[in-house]
Amino acid sequence: MGLGLDSDAVRLRLIERLRRGPMAIDPAVLEAMARVPRHLFVDSALAIQAYEDTSLPIGHGQTISKPTVVARMISLLLQRPSGAQSPPLPPLRHVLEIGTGCGYQAAVLSLLARRVTSIERIHPLHERARSTLSDLGLSQARLLFGDGRLGHPPSAPFDAIIAAAGGEDVPTPWLEQLALGGRLVAPTHSVAHGGQVLVVVDRDESGWHRSVHDGVHFVPLESGTL
Ligand code: SAH
Repeated sequence: MGLGLDSDAVRLRLIERLRRGPMAIDPAVLEAMARVPRHLFVDSALAIQAYEDTSLPIGHGQTISKPTVVARMISLLLQRPSGAQSPPLPPLRHVLEIGTGCGYQAAVLSLLARRVTSIERIHPLHERARSTLSDLGLSQARLLFGDGRLGHPPSAPFDAIIAAAGGEDVPTPWLEQLALGGRLVAPTHSVAHGGQVLVVVDRDESGWHRSVHDGVHFVPLESGTL
């Protein structure tokens, strides 16, 4: 892969940089990221860049998300909802990911959750992610081909929903399929911010509670399948 036996060391240096960085990242997420060989999710010509904190092309006009962003989003999923009276969120049980892409984030999630369901709308990406995860022995993530804007009603409810593509708003099926006590993190366009931001939605008995976090740059959430 051009990285040879050093890939573990190079990966740990990235994890160390994330740990020391300005973002609040959950140690469990860093531990999971330390175990997933990101260079095997990109084309071998790009493997040398796999442990830089950057997004990289994965074909079909799509990208593997930047490590800081993956770490930040999953950390948000693991955090408690704000407010002193809020009970802690349950540990990640069943996670829905929209936008499998190359499968990297699904692999990281599969080390942190009991069940992962991940949907991709571009068939060749779905197939490639499936074979990468199976080669790595990480086939506990269930990869589905389809339009993730619809969520996956037969597998709902989900304790956590994470989107890797950004739309104008959070699709209603995701809100409906979020379990009580669950949390959703999705890049969403914000008129007020003039761009995409990470939107967090917590659901409890009283309804859905939305908060806005960091500015981000995700590929668009598209409709239908390819
Ligand atoms: N999770 C990936 C990021 C992939 S980029 C990672 O680990 O790096 C986002 C992906 O979302 C793209 O592959 C794109 O095809 C997919 N996507 C966009 N709209 C979608 C939709 N409606 N349903 C499912 N996947 C979608």
